[in-house]
Amino acid sequence: MEQQLIENRRITSLFCQSIKSCKKISIGHIVYCICKIIIAVILLTINATQSCVWEGANTWMTIVIGESILELVIFSVIIQLIKITPTLLNVGEELHQVIYAENSQIESYGDISEFLANSIDDQTTQIPEREFEKKKVLLAQQVLQEIFKIHSPLKHSRHLVFIINQGLLIWGFILGFEIPYDLNSDCRSRLIIAIYIFLFYTICYYLDVYILIIIILIALPFVAMFLIYKKLTQPKGKKDTDQIIEELKKQYLVKYSPNLIEGVPECKICMQTYQLEEEVLKLPCHESHNYHLICISAWFKVNLNCPVCRKSYAEEENNEQNLEDINQVPQ
Ligand SMILES: [Zn+2]
Ligand SMILES: [Zn+2]
Repeated sequence: MEQQLIENRRITSLFCQSIKSCKKISIGHIVYCICKIIIAVILLTINATQSCVWEGANTWMTIVIGESILELVIFSVIIQLIKITPTLLNVGEELHQVIYAENSQIESYGDISEFLANSIDDQTTQIPEREFEKKKVLLAQQVLQEIFKIHSPLKHSRHLVFIINQGLLIWGFILGFEIPYDLNSDCRSRLIIAIYIFLFYTICYYLDVYILIIIILIALPFVAMFLIYKKLTQPKGKKDTDQIIEELKKQYLVKYSPNLIEGVPECKICMQTYQLEEEVLKLPCHESHNYHLICISAWFKVNLNCPVCRKSYAEEENNEQNLEDINQVPQ
């Protein structure tokens, strides 16, 4: 059954290309991590041999090595995962890149590219080349996201890497201001350059996240000011429509059944007869002034008064006065 399901599925050539991009992205990361590890190890060794004692920086670099190893493992696992055809077919399905085909000529399940759709079925082969490239890059990112979603240990490790990197970033900045000046200048400049290179790459890597945070931080005071302004300019005691509807609902909302409504059981707004269990709002202005809750809510958005007798529901005082009047009327 499982095999049959695999045989009948084909992936688009866009998806096939994006998986190759995923592999390249992962290899790029691995190379970057290896470079970080090598540089940190070399620096630590030089420091040790030349008795360059700056403990903060040395600890910082040891953590960089640990973090790089974790990242290296994550991307090695991803490279292994994108070799597994059934997993990729599932990811492809999530991203709408799988086409169901009748014929099943495939014998080996080794390479996902064997699952290419017929060019007739495959809309993605008709996309112009430049657009194809753009979509490929975008899809490659989505494939990585999907793989992280499927494998929760990977997802958690990546979050951990993110947190460690932010910690290292902040710590790196602090270290930059706390250079011990009794160090010899070679030792000092070596470490400072290493730290700043790391900071630069980390900032580039998480640039989209930082830009988002900056935009939110910039927008926050304006949003707060707008809310305060709105609160201040709203006349005292005046409530908004939703609030008024909510309060009326508390007392005057009924589920329609014949004995609850006197007179013609019909909504005066939409002119429909009430159905059993429909939500009906009986306005306090008069026994026969009742409407569908939906109809009167929509009406109140435009006019805060009763559609039949024009009794206003806008002012709080009026409302309360009104309720007292109704209570005094003998039933
Ligand atoms: Zn109605
Ligand atoms: Zn009325």
